[in-house]
Amino acid sequence: MKLVKLIANLGYGSRKDVTQLFRAGRITDTDGEVLYADDVVPHENIRVDDEPLDPPPGLVLMLNKPLGVTCSRKDPGRVVYDLLPPRFNVRTPALSSVGRLDRDTTGLLLFTDDGALLHRIISPKAQVAKVYEATLAQDLRGDEGALFASGSLMLESEKEPLAPAQLQVLGPRHARLTVTEGRYHQVRRMFAAAGNHVETLQRVAVGALTLGELPLGEWRALDADEVAAVF
Ligand code: URA
Repeated sequence: MKLVKLIANLGYGSRKDVTQLFRAGRITDTDGEVLYADDVVPHENIRVDDEPLDPPPGLVLMLNKPLGVTCSRKDPGRVVYDLLPPRFNVRTPALSSVGRLDRDTTGLLLFTDDGALLHRIISPKAQVAKVYEATLAQDLRGDEGALFASGSLMLESEKEPLAPAQLQVLGPRHARLTVTEGRYHQVRRMFAAAGNHVETLQRVAVGALTLGELPLGEWRALDADEVAAVF
């Protein structure tokens, strides 16, 4: 792909804008040599205003989603896309969240511009484990683990029972729940079906991929091994 198209697709501007960047000598290699629109240069050797070029297509990143932001592109309030660099929101192909977390759920949210990967992760067939930690309004009764693992729990207005899910009790009002589906408000509705109420909810892992030390509200790009850990 011509450099001008590659750089425009990464959100640096229209092809006309990027042509201007070339003309102004603002696109260089790592030695500061000015590059031209038709040059073929490894991605990692390209600089714009001396800064490394944004990651190429195939980008996968994780965000530690804070409270109060929605997984939507358009919302009157703050959206998860506002927490990413502005250029990431005008890339081609577009970067999208992999599934959604509720406005009041925190934790691990993936994004990718790789549509095939996105569908592989969210496909029910892949059975990717999503691990949540919940704090609850009331003490656990003791029967929730069996109920969630049964594979026969029906949530209101659903046609199919939930697939078995694993509960780990962390305290009287604190539990870790691993689910393989992504139904609407699933974890909150599961605890509601068990007569409880979720007060706080955090997604701590997707597959074997965990948040690690990523601070709330921050994002980082993932490498291929980390993406493989999702499955
Ligand atoms: N289940 C929920 O209830 N909310 C989320 O955000 C994710 C899973």
